[in-house]
Amino acid sequence: MLSQWQAELDSLTARDMLRTLRTVEGAQGPKVRIDGRDLLLLSSNDYLGLANHPLLVEAAMVAIRQFGVGSGASRLVSGSMAPHAAFEERVAAFKEAEAALLFNSGYAANTGIIQGLCGPDDLVFSDALNHASIIDGCRLSRVRTLVYPHRDLVALEQLMERESHQRKGAWLIVTDGVFSMDGDLAPLRELCDLKERFDALLMVDDAHGTGVLGERGRGSAEHCGCLGRVDLQMGTLGKALGCAGAYLAASRTVIDRLLNRSRPLIFSTSLPPAVAAAAIAAIDLVESDEGRQLRADLERNRSLLARALTEGDLDILNSQTQIIPVLTRDPAPTMAMTGRLFKEGIFLQGIRPPTVGEGLCRLRATVMASHQPQELVAAAQTILRVVKECRT
Ligand SMILES: *Cc1c(COP(=O)(O)O)cnc(C)c1O
Repeated sequence: MLSQWQAELDSLTARDMLRTLRTVEGAQGPKVRIDGRDLLLLSSNDYLGLANHPLLVEAAMVAIRQFGVGSGASRLVSGSMAPHAAFEERVAAFKEAEAALLFNSGYAANTGIIQGLCGPDDLVFSDALNHASIIDGCRLSRVRTLVYPHRDLVALEQLMERESHQRKGAWLIVTDGVFSMDGDLAPLRELCDLKERFDALLMVDDAHGTGVLGERGRGSAEHCGCLGRVDLQMGTLGKALGCAGAYLAASRTVIDRLLNRSRPLIFSTSLPPAVAAAAIAAIDLVESDEGRQLRADLERNRSLLARALTEGDLDILNSQTQIIPVLTRDPAPTMAMTGRLFKEGIFLQGIRPPTVGEGLCRLRATVMASHQPQELVAAAQTILRVVKECRT
């Protein structure tokens, strides 16, 4: 068996499809140290630079001294500690929801929310570019799932119309708020209209919107002016909030149903309490004047890099956010570009199937608030040159 598995790995290598790890030697920041060299980091989701922010570090240290490191058990056994509850109250207020629930990761949240709410009689409508954890949540729940073409409201409406003649259980529309590999936005206002018309629930995965979008950083729902209308606001703590874990903000009934049914929540040790404490500090920071300034810096950097890449005739798809994909299509040139950029001091990962569709490989660039404009201008010139040289 092992030799067959090794042969499969060798075949991945031959097709430029092998995935490997690179070890980062210091903290996350606009530059990171890898193999003793400092590289410009264009592949981190730590958009606001909170992962190593002194206020978060301090909040975590204080909590570690008071509560220790580990939580000791699942939330439902003895692992529900004061910082977990305090975080849930804080994030519910932030998202203007009745209640909230902490999960161990975004992956655990999406699998756990869909499995905990839905069963075989229910129906999920899912955007074609939704994150893998949403797809896996549908699988875990054995719910019937209809995938609608990316952001296609007309197709979704037709599907809902068709299904309404034989409706049985609950209906759930689920979408990323900001699509993680394309950096475009879901049409949340129109989705709210549809879900209200058809008496469905709307779930938004705001992994890349929370902290970044909206006047007060409350995410894509705030950005689209429909904060009070989204039934299930899921978000992660590991991206702009600089920590780890995830949450769902929703009605009390939804939260209580999940507490009683969600397997990734019930059967897993809860997050270290210090992580919950740091996440509270992160939300406080997002809402502060400093948070507002960080969002402004991020937007400056986003428009600067996006403009420089499009002016050099690169295809950045429909990016509207800090996630700026550069379409490169096939795995071999994509990984050649990643390797060349690495040598030239830029850490920018190539993304291949199954994370994206066949023929849709890309360099997924993400900017951070802490990047200096001149280093992004220089990086854009390097990217333009390397992409042109490696293109087949
Ligand atoms: C990263 C991501 C997740 C998973 O979150 P983790 O906390 O990293 O497990 C879920 N959904 C989307 C859209 C993501 O980008």
